[in-house]
Amino acid sequence: MNYEAVIGLEIHVQLATKSKIFSGASTAYGAEPNTQACAVDVALPGVLPVLNTEAVHMAAKFGLAIEAEVAHRSVFARKNYFYPDLPKGYQISQFELPIVGSGHIDIELESGETKRVGVTRAHLEEDAGKSLHEDFAGMTGIDLNRAGTPLLEVVSEPDMRSAAEAVAYMKKMHSLVRYLEICDGNMQEGSFRCDANISVRPKGQQAFGTRAEIKNMNSFRFVERAINHEIERQIDLIEDGGEVVQETRLYDANKDETRPMRSKEEANDYRYFPDPDLLPVFIDDVYLDQVRKLLPELPDQKKQRYIQTFGLSSYDASVLTSSRELADYFEIVTAKTGDAKLSANWISGELAARLNKEELEIGASRVSAEAYAELLTRIKDNTISGKIAKDVFEAMWNGEGSADEIIGSRGLKQITDSGAIEAMVDAVVASNPEQFEQLKGGKDKLMGFFVGQVMKASKGKANPAQVNELMRKKLQD
Ligand code: ADP
Ligand code: MG
Repeated sequence: MNYEAVIGLEIHVQLATKSKIFSGASTAYGAEPNTQACAVDVALPGVLPVLNTEAVHMAAKFGLAIEAEVAHRSVFARKNYFYPDLPKGYQISQFELPIVGSGHIDIELESGETKRVGVTRAHLEEDAGKSLHEDFAGMTGIDLNRAGTPLLEVVSEPDMRSAAEAVAYMKKMHSLVRYLEICDGNMQEGSFRCDANISVRPKGQQAFGTRAEIKNMNSFRFVERAINHEIERQIDLIEDGGEVVQETRLYDANKDETRPMRSKEEANDYRYFPDPDLLPVFIDDVYLDQVRKLLPELPDQKKQRYIQTFGLSSYDASVLTSSRELADYFEIVTAKTGDAKLSANWISGELAARLNKEELEIGASRVSAEAYAELLTRIKDNTISGKIAKDVFEAMWNGEGSADEIIGSRGLKQITDSGAIEAMVDAVVASNPEQFEQLKGGKDKLMGFFVGQVMKASKGKANPAQVNELMRKKLQD
């Protein structure tokens, strides 16, 4: 039988506020354990939470960006459970009345089509502390620095149908929150993590199957692998006559497998109720208008602009707008070269490949936008060929200097003197008389051979278009 996967994601976006959501303690990452947890975070008796307005502002920005209804009135609720890294015995979250209602995000599929994924809601909540199981033999350490860090939990509709779609959604969300500057997006530090809900159903069936939830993944690669695994596990189970049970599973990246954490029977009953220590959050239209004015150009808007004003393909425009930093880089290069297509090709080609290989973000590129523009300008004005430009780029990356310096010191300037090229053509023809006769006799394939030989003789420096032209002329002689 043929199966179809159904996937919904819950993404935890750590909001980039300086202080915590209900206290003045710092949210900076990496401090000594328990040095950034104040009386509110460690839940000393008698303290009261005070809402951080910046967190509300960021949630509102997000809501407007996904074209959602931002609630005029939202309410904080207590989610009760016991765990050592949760000193209050409850987490402050939102339940029945979240700050952001339903919205959507568009993702680009591999086929080039665009798909709209529904966002059910997004709510504000505080993070818990961290249990350190490995630092003390036979004991567990508790670090409360993270307790009270603001999170925006974004819940999607079960609209995704493959691991690839889920990852595309997650990447788009990642890009969006960074455009909005509401999250640093640092996945290693846990600033952006996700739970995946997965079920399968026979193709054509309307009703959803029973789902399993995989908790707390903080890399795109893990999410993709874990989802594919889980889909396979569920299909195998059903094919063998079994049934999927609703449960929470953990993905173990080392073993590349998921394993059960808790089933529905043991599932928590959180006894949600409105937090009596916090007032409802009221947001009016004047406030929302102010927030709307502060929204930057969003990825989809930027993409449309690139297609319309630069004539880029939808694919290129998507790649270049995938992060704000990459888009800025592209715009600087294009402004300097005056050639958007050339710039787009070389950024999504040579540069992106290099960054990928070294697992670097554009911000860490060893060739600046200005320096890259100089290189591309030398292709445009025929100083060097595209092929030579790749070598120059390599040298630039290795810190050997600017494009012009490297072209000068290595003598890479393209040969455009037709007399010099003609001499090389003659020499190559003279040393390959048989092949030349065959070429004349109609064996067109040999054209590539001759052009290649001349290019080689010139150490790649002859202008390829001129070499082709002179070879053709030679044939007519
Ligand atoms: P819970 O209250 O248990 O967290 P929700 O209804 O909030 O459950 O759903 C959590 C996530 O699971 C959402 O992203 C939703 O889209 C997804 N989801 C719900 N049902 C299914 C299903 N049958 N298969 C896959 N995902 C699902
Ligand atoms: Mg949920």
